[in-house]
Amino acid sequence: MAVREIILFSEHEATLRDKSKAVPFVNQKVRRLIRDLKDTLEASSDGIGLAAPQINIHKRVVLVCPGDEMNGEWHSGLPVALINPEIFEASGERRDFDGCLSFPGLYGETTRPHHIRVTGLDEDGVPFDRIYEGFNAVVVHHEIDHLNGVLFIDRIENPQDLYTLRKNEYGETVRVP
Ligand code: ZN
Repeated sequence: MAVREIILFSEHEATLRDKSKAVPFVNQKVRRLIRDLKDTLEASSDGIGLAAPQINIHKRVVLVCPGDEMNGEWHSGLPVALINPEIFEASGERRDFDGCLSFPGLYGETTRPHHIRVTGLDEDGVPFDRIYEGFNAVVVHHEIDHLNGVLFIDRIENPQDLYTLRKNEYGETVRVP
């Protein structure tokens, strides 16, 4: 078990801006990295994705938790590792919720494709070719952005689309720009 420190934008922007390098093959070191990412994501309270550069390892490895909407609520599944993920089809751009473990407490609305086709290697080094739809596509797109040093705040079109959540005097959760 190795929970790593998640790099915060407020302290280490340059680290998050660095581009990550492709993984030539899935060896012991890569498997250990995936384990550390899983442990770190599990230890976070509300993460549904994590990219290696967020724990200061600039390799093209991300974790995503594909999920399903049930009764209007999002239920995320177990984390899946994507190695050297490459998007080669993207469509259905629309606005959706966004947030990032490197920006605790900050949320926003970004425009991202809701249908993407992604290739890469799974954690056993086996090539995959998958389609992600809806919010799952948003999560995968967000994580792949991290490998290129792109952060969700870069995709915010209007400053008022960025907000924090606070409880007001009535105990209701409200957006604070
Ligand atoms: Zn993120």
